[in-house]
Amino acid sequence: MSVKTRFAPSPTGYLHVGGARTALFSWLHARKHGGRFVLRIEDTDLERSTIESVNAILEGMTWLGLEYDEGPIHQTHRFERYEEVIQGLMDKGLAYRCNCSRERIDAIREEQMRLKEKPRYDGHCRDKTIDPNEPHVIRFRNPDDGDVVVNDLIRGRVVYSNTELDDLIIRRTDGSPTYNMTVVVDDLDMGITQVIRGDDHLNNTPRQINILNALDAEPPQYAHVPMILGDDGARLSKRHGAVSVMQYREMGILPEALLNYLVRLGWSHGDEELFSIDQMVELFNIEDVNKSASSFNTDKLLWINQHYIKNDDPARIAHLLSYHMGEIGIDPTTGPSLVEVVKAQQERANTLVEMAEISAFIYRDFDEYEEKAAKKHLRPVAAEPLRKVRELLAAQQEWQGEALHACVEQASEALELKMGKVAQPLRVAVVGRAASPGIDVTLELVGKAATLRRIDRALEFIAQRAAETQG
Ligand code: GLU
Repeated sequence: MSVKTRFAPSPTGYLHVGGARTALFSWLHARKHGGRFVLRIEDTDLERSTIESVNAILEGMTWLGLEYDEGPIHQTHRFERYEEVIQGLMDKGLAYRCNCSRERIDAIREEQMRLKEKPRYDGHCRDKTIDPNEPHVIRFRNPDDGDVVVNDLIRGRVVYSNTELDDLIIRRTDGSPTYNMTVVVDDLDMGITQVIRGDDHLNNTPRQINILNALDAEPPQYAHVPMILGDDGARLSKRHGAVSVMQYREMGILPEALLNYLVRLGWSHGDEELFSIDQMVELFNIEDVNKSASSFNTDKLLWINQHYIKNDDPARIAHLLSYHMGEIGIDPTTGPSLVEVVKAQQERANTLVEMAEISAFIYRDFDEYEEKAAKKHLRPVAAEPLRKVRELLAAQQEWQGEALHACVEQASEALELKMGKVAQPLRVAVVGRAASPGIDVTLELVGKAATLRRIDRALEFIAQRAAETQG
């Protein structure tokens, strides 16, 4: 049977990094085996599911590049099918109506707690005849004895005794099917071969296997992925910082860096840290995922991010960077090619947010000089070198790196100054700061008109400061 996996989020919030890792593992498993990957939206909880959340999940999946071959399939569109399966179980006597009151259920629970027993429904309505017009739930008739064995691909063999399980509600009083029922029907109908999901669902698995057996269906294989912890050992949550995938985008993380980071959370291949998507697909094996939980480490993510910023194809980075340029109000089509900007800045930024910030001067005039840089480099002694280099630059017909570099050299020779005495004031004049790529590339990217304009502004600034200190 060809491999088919799925990611089945409940749309009640953003796409959490834990969910993204589960999605990644499912996606990798499908890709590795040339199989298919399904996105299923488990939106049967009508009160908590929102369209915004569905969109946030789709946006996160798209940004990460975890493309799906089928879906999104919404469970709310499949109610008729669930009903049909529930009726089938009823017809075979494998499910039954129950009209036990809340008080009765509470009373048996209390009694079981008192006796230190695991709370479970006592099967009271199993053989009662209940009028379908009367309010009722439908319960699955769980086998009374025997064991359910889960041969989990990550956890190994986990055995549950049927005496620990009870007759689960599969349809609520309002007629809606419950989680365990819909998941079973969907995994079956969609032909899912490996269910890869968070280990918070491990205890649902024997129940789902029992329902599948009742339907005469072969259960899929299961792989329960351990959870992600924060740095304090508690389950990763908002209070540990960013948990939504899209927050990482906002922070200037590359999707390939986040995927690389997530694949290493609980999975390893020797002591390698860096994996391209192709390498992940080739090397990933669901059975090699750790049984124990892993802790999220933001510093490591940033380290991986830096690696991708330095080494990714500039065109790819430019594509991602344009979003961040937009976020600071810059339309990169109004200036030099963003690919050239990336080439100049690749070594100088750790995140795309940083890269956008240090590249803004290429597209628009800055408001203020960095105070320290201005104090050091825009002093009265800088006026003459700036005037000289301006004169040479103004005469340039062809605005390209080598020739621009030659202007700086000529100005320093003419004034018998070290290159830095010309280049640094020029850099602060044009960039606003003392740090930028090489002066030739910097000037080339800023362009002639803006360079000359900014030198004039720096000369005015120097004059004004001088007047202020004298006055
Ligand atoms: N919808 C469930 C969740 O978001 C996942 C169910 C499953 O993977 O079986 O936790």
